[in-house]
Amino acid sequence: MPRIYFDHNATTPLRPQVLDAMMPYLTGAVGNASSIHGFGREARDAVEAARETLARSLGCRSGEVYFTSGGTEADNWAIEGMACSRRQSRRRIVTSAVEHHAVLHTCRHLEQRGFEVIYLPVDEYGVVDLNAVESALDDNTALVSIMHANNETGTIHPLAEIGRLAQARGVPLHVDAVQSFGKLDFRVDDLGADLVSVSAHKINGPKGTGALYVRSGLEIEPWSRGGGQEGGLRTGTENVAGIVGLGRAGELRVAEGRALEEEAGVLRDRLQRGLLQRVEDLRVNGHPQRRLANTLNLSFQGVEAEAVLLDLDLKGVAASSGSACAEGEPEPSHVLLAMGLAPRTASGSVRFSLGWGNTADEVDYVVEIVPGMVQRLRKLSVFS
Ligand code: PLP
Repeated sequence: MPRIYFDHNATTPLRPQVLDAMMPYLTGAVGNASSIHGFGREARDAVEAARETLARSLGCRSGEVYFTSGGTEADNWAIEGMACSRRQSRRRIVTSAVEHHAVLHTCRHLEQRGFEVIYLPVDEYGVVDLNAVESALDDNTALVSIMHANNETGTIHPLAEIGRLAQARGVPLHVDAVQSFGKLDFRVDDLGADLVSVSAHKINGPKGTGALYVRSGLEIEPWSRGGGQEGGLRTGTENVAGIVGLGRAGELRVAEGRALEEEAGVLRDRLQRGLLQRVEDLRVNGHPQRRLANTLNLSFQGVEAEAVLLDLDLKGVAASSGSACAEGEPEPSHVLLAMGLAPRTASGSVRFSLGWGNTADEVDYVVEIVPGMVQRLRKLSVFS
Protein backbone atom coordinates (compact mmCIF):
# COMPACT_ATOMS: atom_id res chain seq x y z
CA MET A 1 0.00 0.00 0.00
CA PRO A 2 1.28 3.51 -0.76
CA ARG A 3 1.95 6.02 2.02
CA ILE A 4 0.81 9.39 0.77
CA TYR A 5 1.14 12.47 2.93
CA PHE A 6 -1.29 15.24 1.94
CA ASP A 7 -1.37 16.96 5.34
CA HIS A 8 1.43 19.53 5.04
CA ASN A 9 -0.62 22.31 6.68
CA ALA A 10 -0.68 20.17 9.85
CA THR A 11 3.04 19.50 9.82
CA THR A 12 5.81 18.68 7.35
CA PRO A 13 8.71 16.25 7.13
CA LEU A 14 12.16 17.54 8.06
CA ARG A 15 14.29 18.20 5.00
CA PRO A 16 17.73 16.56 4.95
CA GLN A 17 19.49 19.95 4.65
CA VAL A 18 17.72 21.10 7.82
CA LEU A 19 18.65 17.95 9.71
CA ASP A 20 22.29 18.35 8.55
CA ALA A 21 22.34 21.88 9.96
CA MET A 22 20.83 20.71 13.28
CA MET A 23 22.92 17.57 13.83
CA PRO A 24 26.02 19.21 15.35
CA TYR A 25 23.83 20.81 18.04
CA LEU A 26 22.15 17.50 18.91
CA THR A 27 25.42 15.60 19.24
CA GLY A 28 28.79 17.38 19.69
CA ALA A 29 28.08 21.08 20.29
CA VAL A 30 25.74 20.47 23.20
CA GLY A 31 26.42 23.57 25.28
CA ASN A 32 23.89 25.83 26.96
CA ALA A 33 23.90 29.10 24.99
CA SER A 34 24.17 31.04 28.28
CA SER A 35 27.32 29.23 29.48
CA ILE A 36 30.61 31.08 29.21
CA HIS A 37 32.77 28.06 28.25
CA GLY A 38 33.61 27.04 24.68
CA PHE A 39 30.60 24.74 24.33
CA GLY A 40 28.33 27.55 25.47
CA ARG A 41 29.91 30.09 23.11
CA GLU A 42 29.49 27.67 20.21
CA ALA A 43 25.79 27.30 21.03
CA ARG A 44 25.37 31.10 21.44
CA ASP A 45 27.02 31.72 18.06
CA ALA A 46 24.63 29.23 16.43
CA VAL A 47 21.56 30.87 18.01
CA GLU A 48 22.68 34.36 16.94
CA ALA A 49 23.54 33.19 13.41
CA ALA A 50 20.05 31.63 13.14
CA ARG A 51 18.52 34.89 14.40
CA GLU A 52 20.36 36.82 11.65
CA THR A 53 19.24 34.30 9.04
CA LEU A 54 15.60 34.38 10.14
CA ALA A 55 15.67 38.18 10.29
CA ARG A 56 16.90 38.26 6.67
CA SER A 57 14.10 35.85 5.66
CA LEU A 58 11.48 38.04 7.38
CA GLY A 59 13.00 41.34 6.26
CA CYS A 60 13.61 42.69 9.75
CA ARG A 61 16.51 43.29 12.15
CA SER A 62 17.91 40.41 14.16
CA GLY A 63 17.16 42.25 17.42
CA GLU A 64 13.46 42.08 16.49
CA VAL A 65 13.36 38.24 16.41
CA TYR A 66 12.46 36.30 19.60
CA PHE A 67 12.55 32.51 19.52
CA THR A 68 9.59 30.60 21.01
CA SER A 69 8.39 27.00 21.31
CA GLY A 70 6.26 27.36 18.17
CA GLY A 71 3.43 29.24 16.51
CA THR A 72 1.01 28.75 19.41
CA GLU A 73 3.32 30.37 21.93
CA ALA A 74 4.13 33.21 19.53
CA ASP A 75 0.40 33.89 19.00
CA ASN A 76 -0.41 33.64 22.72
CA TRP A 77 2.43 35.96 23.65
CA ALA A 78 1.70 38.55 20.95
CA ILE A 79 -1.91 38.93 22.04
CA GLU A 80 -1.59 38.63 25.79
CA GLY A 81 1.67 40.56 25.84
CA MET A 82 0.15 43.51 23.97
CA ALA A 83 -3.18 43.43 25.82
CA CYS A 84 -1.47 43.43 29.20
CA SER A 85 1.13 46.07 28.40
CA ARG A 86 -1.63 48.52 27.54
CA ARG A 87 -4.11 47.15 30.00
CA GLN A 88 -4.64 50.37 31.87
CA SER A 89 -5.75 52.37 28.86
CA ARG A 90 -6.88 50.11 26.00
CA ARG A 91 -9.36 47.27 26.49
CA ARG A 92 -10.40 46.20 22.97
CA ILE A 93 -8.89 43.50 20.76
CA VAL A 94 -9.94 43.08 17.15
CA THR A 95 -9.54 39.71 15.45
CA SER A 96 -11.41 37.59 12.90
CA ALA A 97 -13.81 34.68 13.25
CA VAL A 98 -11.52 32.40 11.20
CA GLU A 99 -8.28 32.61 13.22
CA HIS A 100 -6.43 29.57 14.52
CA HIS A 101 -7.43 28.45 18.01
CA ALA A 102 -4.04 29.70 19.28
CA VAL A 103 -5.46 33.18 18.67
CA LEU A 104 -9.16 32.59 19.36
CA HIS A 105 -8.68 30.82 22.67
CA THR A 106 -6.29 33.53 23.86
CA CYS A 107 -8.91 36.14 22.96
CA ARG A 108 -11.60 34.20 24.86
CA HIS A 109 -9.28 34.03 27.87
CA LEU A 110 -8.84 37.81 27.74
CA GLU A 111 -12.60 38.31 27.41
CA GLN A 112 -12.96 36.46 30.71
CA ARG A 113 -10.57 39.00 32.19
CA GLY A 114 -12.71 41.91 31.08
CA PHE A 115 -11.33 42.73 27.63
CA GLU A 116 -13.74 43.37 24.80
CA VAL A 117 -13.00 41.25 21.71
CA ILE A 118 -14.47 41.95 18.28
CA TYR A 119 -14.56 38.86 16.03
CA LEU A 120 -14.73 40.24 12.48
CA PRO A 121 -16.92 38.44 9.96
CA VAL A 122 -15.63 37.02 6.65
CA ASP A 123 -17.21 36.67 3.22
CA GLU A 124 -18.12 33.41 1.43
CA TYR A 125 -14.43 32.88 0.53
CA GLY A 126 -13.26 33.43 4.08
CA VAL A 127 -11.79 36.90 3.45
CA VAL A 128 -12.07 39.41 6.28
CA ASP A 129 -14.18 42.46 5.45
CA LEU A 130 -12.09 45.66 5.31
CA ASN A 131 -15.05 47.92 6.17
CA ALA A 132 -15.62 45.84 9.27
CA VAL A 133 -11.94 46.23 10.22
CA GLU A 134 -12.17 49.99 9.84
CA SER A 135 -15.30 50.33 11.93
CA ALA A 136 -14.01 48.01 14.67
CA LEU A 137 -10.87 50.07 15.32
CA ASP A 138 -11.19 52.78 17.93
CA ASP A 139 -9.00 54.69 20.38
CA ASN A 140 -9.58 51.93 22.92
CA THR A 141 -8.08 49.19 20.68
CA ALA A 142 -4.93 47.56 22.03
CA LEU A 143 -4.29 45.21 19.10
CA VAL A 144 -5.57 43.87 15.79
CA SER A 145 -4.68 40.23 15.17
CA ILE A 146 -5.39 38.81 11.71
CA MET A 147 -3.82 35.76 10.11
CA HIS A 148 -2.05 36.03 6.76
CA ALA A 149 -3.26 32.74 5.25
CA ASN A 150 -5.88 30.41 6.70
CA ASN A 151 -4.71 26.94 7.67
CA GLU A 152 -7.97 25.21 6.62
CA THR A 153 -8.83 26.88 3.32
CA GLY A 154 -5.58 28.61 2.35
CA THR A 155 -7.46 31.91 1.85
CA ILE A 156 -5.11 34.91 2.00
CA HIS A 157 -6.26 38.07 3.80
CA PRO A 158 -5.50 41.59 2.44
CA LEU A 159 -2.90 42.33 5.10
CA ALA A 160 -1.31 45.38 3.47
CA GLU A 161 -4.71 47.14 3.51
CA ILE A 162 -5.45 46.00 7.05
CA GLY A 163 -1.99 47.21 8.09
CA ARG A 164 -2.72 50.67 6.62
CA LEU A 165 -6.05 50.87 8.47
CA ALA A 166 -4.42 49.86 11.75
CA GLN A 167 -1.55 52.29 11.29
CA ALA A 168 -3.96 55.15 10.54
CA ARG A 169 -5.61 54.54 13.95
CA GLY A 170 -2.30 53.99 15.74
CA VAL A 171 -3.22 50.39 16.59
CA PRO A 172 -0.48 47.69 16.53
CA LEU A 173 -1.08 44.78 14.14
CA HIS A 174 -0.21 41.14 14.89
CA VAL A 175 -0.09 38.74 11.94
CA ASP A 176 -0.20 34.97 12.40
CA ALA A 177 2.01 34.05 9.43
CA VAL A 178 2.44 30.41 10.48
CA GLN A 179 0.92 29.14 7.22
CA SER A 180 2.27 31.83 4.89
CA PHE A 181 5.92 32.12 5.95
CA GLY A 182 8.02 30.33 3.35
CA LYS A 183 5.01 29.87 1.07
CA LEU A 184 4.22 33.49 0.17
CA ASP A 185 6.86 36.03 -0.70
CA PHE A 186 6.68 38.83 1.90
CA ARG A 187 8.66 40.97 4.31
CA VAL A 188 7.18 42.14 7.60
CA ASP A 189 6.82 45.71 6.28
CA ASP A 190 4.75 44.48 3.31
CA LEU A 191 2.16 43.34 5.85
CA GLY A 192 2.28 46.56 7.84
CA ALA A 193 2.84 44.27 10.83
CA ASP A 194 4.21 45.12 14.27
CA LEU A 195 4.24 41.49 15.41
CA VAL A 196 4.50 38.34 13.26
CA SER A 197 4.29 34.69 14.36
CA VAL A 198 6.10 31.91 12.48
CA SER A 199 6.66 28.20 13.10
CA ALA A 200 9.39 25.84 11.88
CA HIS A 201 7.44 22.61 11.45
CA LYS A 202 5.14 24.01 8.74
CA ILE A 203 8.13 24.63 6.46
CA ASN A 204 10.06 21.36 6.73
CA GLY A 205 11.77 22.40 9.93
CA PRO A 206 11.62 20.77 13.39
CA LYS A 207 8.52 20.64 15.58
CA GLY A 208 8.49 22.74 18.74
CA THR A 209 10.31 25.85 17.48
CA GLY A 210 8.94 29.15 16.30
CA ALA A 211 9.53 32.87 16.58
CA LEU A 212 7.79 36.15 17.18
CA TYR A 213 8.88 39.27 15.33
CA VAL A 214 8.38 42.30 17.57
CA ARG A 215 8.91 45.67 15.91
CA SER A 216 11.69 47.56 17.63
CA GLY A 217 10.34 50.03 20.22
CA LEU A 218 7.01 48.24 20.69
CA GLU A 219 6.10 47.80 24.33
CA ILE A 220 5.17 44.18 25.10
CA GLU A 221 4.92 42.28 28.38
CA PRO A 222 7.51 39.50 28.80
CA TRP A 223 6.15 36.02 28.15
CA SER A 224 8.23 34.27 30.78
CA ARG A 225 10.46 35.21 33.70
CA GLY A 226 13.74 33.62 34.71
CA GLY A 227 17.27 33.60 33.42
CA GLY A 228 16.91 36.57 31.09
CA GLN A 229 17.34 34.91 27.69
CA GLU A 230 15.83 36.50 24.57
CA GLY A 231 16.32 40.00 25.91
CA GLY A 232 14.48 39.02 29.11
CA LEU A 233 11.20 38.84 27.19
CA ARG A 234 11.02 35.09 26.52
CA THR A 235 13.36 33.68 29.05
CA GLY A 236 14.33 29.98 29.28
CA THR A 237 17.21 27.86 27.95
CA GLU A 238 17.20 28.06 24.16
CA ASN A 239 16.39 25.02 22.01
CA VAL A 240 19.62 25.46 20.06
CA ALA A 241 19.13 22.67 17.49
CA GLY A 242 15.50 23.69 16.93
CA ILE A 243 16.46 27.34 16.46
CA VAL A 244 19.21 26.38 13.98
CA GLY A 245 16.62 24.22 12.15
CA LEU A 246 14.13 27.11 11.99
CA GLY A 247 16.77 29.45 10.55
CA ARG A 248 17.83 26.92 7.91
CA ALA A 249 14.28 25.84 7.00
CA GLY A 250 13.20 29.48 6.58
CA GLU A 251 16.27 30.27 4.50
CA LEU A 252 15.67 27.30 2.18
CA ARG A 253 11.97 28.02 1.78
CA VAL A 254 12.46 31.73 1.15
CA ALA A 255 15.13 30.93 -1.46
CA GLU A 256 13.07 28.22 -3.16
CA GLY A 257 9.57 29.15 -1.99
CA ARG A 258 8.29 30.31 -5.34
CA ALA A 259 9.41 27.16 -7.16
CA LEU A 260 8.11 24.86 -4.40
CA GLU A 261 4.79 26.68 -4.29
CA GLU A 262 4.46 26.56 -8.06
CA GLU A 263 5.08 22.80 -7.98
CA ALA A 264 2.56 22.34 -5.17
CA GLY A 265 0.09 24.51 -7.11
CA VAL A 266 0.36 22.34 -10.24
CA LEU A 267 -0.33 19.22 -8.15
CA ARG A 268 -3.15 20.87 -6.16
CA ASP A 269 -4.85 22.02 -9.38
CA ARG A 270 -4.51 18.52 -10.85
CA LEU A 271 -6.16 17.09 -7.72
CA GLN A 272 -8.93 19.71 -7.75
CA ARG A 273 -9.67 19.22 -11.48
CA GLY A 274 -9.59 15.44 -11.21
CA LEU A 275 -11.97 15.30 -8.25
CA LEU A 276 -14.36 17.94 -9.61
CA GLN A 277 -14.64 15.92 -12.84
CA ARG A 278 -15.35 12.64 -11.07
CA VAL A 279 -17.30 13.46 -7.92
CA GLU A 280 -20.76 15.06 -7.99
CA ASP A 281 -21.90 17.67 -5.46
CA LEU A 282 -18.41 18.77 -4.60
CA ARG A 283 -17.69 22.27 -3.36
CA VAL A 284 -14.27 23.94 -3.25
CA ASN A 285 -13.89 26.10 -0.13
CA GLY A 286 -11.67 29.18 -0.01
CA HIS A 287 -10.84 31.97 -2.40
CA PRO A 288 -10.53 30.80 -6.04
CA GLN A 289 -7.36 32.88 -6.63
CA ARG A 290 -6.11 34.42 -3.39
CA ARG A 291 -5.38 31.06 -1.78
CA LEU A 292 -2.22 29.15 -0.78
CA ALA A 293 -1.15 27.12 -3.81
CA ASN A 294 -0.81 23.90 -1.82
CA THR A 295 -4.23 23.86 -0.13
CA LEU A 296 -7.48 22.23 -1.29
CA ASN A 297 -10.51 22.21 1.01
CA LEU A 298 -13.48 20.26 -0.36
CA SER A 299 -17.01 19.68 0.93
CA PHE A 300 -18.36 16.27 -0.01
CA GLN A 301 -22.15 16.69 0.27
CA GLY A 302 -23.87 13.92 2.19
CA VAL A 303 -20.90 12.36 3.98
CA GLU A 304 -19.04 12.94 7.21
CA ALA A 305 -15.43 14.08 6.79
CA GLU A 306 -14.26 11.62 9.47
CA ALA A 307 -15.61 8.70 7.41
CA VAL A 308 -13.71 9.91 4.31
CA LEU A 309 -10.54 10.43 6.35
CA LEU A 310 -10.73 6.93 7.85
CA ASP A 311 -11.24 5.37 4.42
CA LEU A 312 -8.36 7.42 3.02
CA ASP A 313 -6.18 6.32 5.91
CA LEU A 314 -7.01 2.66 5.21
CA LYS A 315 -5.74 3.26 1.68
CA GLY A 316 -2.54 4.90 2.92
CA VAL A 317 -3.51 8.55 2.39
CA ALA A 318 -3.21 11.21 5.11
CA ALA A 319 -5.49 14.27 4.90
CA SER A 320 -7.47 16.13 7.55
CA SER A 321 -10.61 18.03 8.44
CA GLY A 322 -10.90 21.30 10.30
CA SER A 323 -13.40 19.94 12.75
CA ALA A 324 -12.65 20.06 16.43
CA CYS A 325 -13.57 17.23 18.75
CA ALA A 326 -15.67 18.30 21.72
CA GLU A 327 -16.71 15.56 24.14
CA GLY A 328 -16.14 12.89 21.52
CA GLU A 329 -18.48 14.59 19.03
CA PRO A 330 -16.77 16.19 16.03
CA GLU A 331 -17.88 19.80 15.66
CA PRO A 332 -17.93 21.43 12.22
CA SER A 333 -15.05 23.78 11.46
CA HIS A 334 -15.50 27.30 12.86
CA VAL A 335 -13.79 28.61 9.72
CA LEU A 336 -16.28 27.05 7.31
CA LEU A 337 -19.25 28.02 9.48
CA ALA A 338 -18.00 31.63 9.52
CA MET A 339 -17.90 31.48 5.69
CA GLY A 340 -21.62 30.67 5.73
CA LEU A 341 -21.51 26.92 5.06
CA ALA A 342 -24.38 24.92 6.54
CA PRO A 343 -23.19 22.77 9.48
CA ARG A 344 -23.91 19.60 7.48
CA THR A 345 -21.83 20.81 4.52
CA ALA A 346 -19.01 21.90 6.84
CA SER A 347 -19.07 18.45 8.49
CA GLY A 348 -18.31 16.84 5.14
CA SER A 349 -15.23 18.95 4.45
CA VAL A 350 -11.76 17.54 3.95
CA ARG A 351 -8.46 19.40 3.58
CA PHE A 352 -5.73 18.13 1.30
CA SER A 353 -2.50 20.10 1.77
CA LEU A 354 0.42 19.26 -0.49
CA GLY A 355 4.11 20.00 -0.21
CA TRP A 356 7.71 19.01 -0.58
CA GLY A 357 8.08 15.43 -1.86
CA ASN A 358 4.55 14.95 -3.29
CA THR A 359 4.20 13.66 -6.86
CA ALA A 360 1.66 13.59 -9.72
CA ASP A 361 1.36 9.80 -9.29
CA GLU A 362 0.20 10.33 -5.71
CA VAL A 363 -2.39 12.85 -6.89
CA ASP A 364 -3.63 10.44 -9.56
CA TYR A 365 -3.96 7.64 -6.98
CA VAL A 366 -6.13 9.87 -4.77
CA VAL A 367 -8.22 10.98 -7.76
CA GLU A 368 -8.74 7.30 -8.59
CA ILE A 369 -9.83 6.11 -5.14
CA VAL A 370 -11.93 9.02 -3.83
CA PRO A 371 -14.96 8.84 -6.20
CA GLY A 372 -15.80 5.21 -5.33
CA MET A 373 -15.18 5.89 -1.65
CA VAL A 374 -17.56 8.87 -1.61
CA GLN A 375 -20.19 6.99 -3.59
CA ARG A 376 -20.14 4.13 -1.09
CA LEU A 377 -20.25 6.47 1.92
CA ARG A 378 -23.13 8.43 0.41
CA LYS A 379 -25.13 5.22 0.04
CA LEU A 380 -24.54 4.44 3.71
CA SER A 381 -25.13 7.98 4.95
CA VAL A 382 -28.26 8.95 6.80
CA PHE A 383 -27.94 12.44 5.28
CA SER A 384 -28.07 11.49 1.60
N1 PLP B 1 -1.41 29.41 13.52
C1 PLP B 1 -1.78 28.74 12.42
C2 PLP B 1 -2.43 29.47 11.31
C3 PLP B 1 -1.52 27.37 12.33
O1 PLP B 1 -1.88 26.71 11.25
C4 PLP B 1 -0.89 26.72 13.43
C5 PLP B 1 -0.67 25.25 13.40
O2 PLP B 1 -1.49 24.51 12.90
C6 PLP B 1 -0.53 27.47 14.55
C7 PLP B 1 -0.81 28.82 14.56
C8 PLP B 1 0.17 26.84 15.72
O3 PLP B 1 1.51 26.59 15.41
P1 PLP B 1 2.36 25.48 16.23
O4 PLP B 1 1.87 24.15 15.76
O5 PLP B 1 3.78 25.75 15.83
O6 PLP B 1 2.12 25.70 17.66
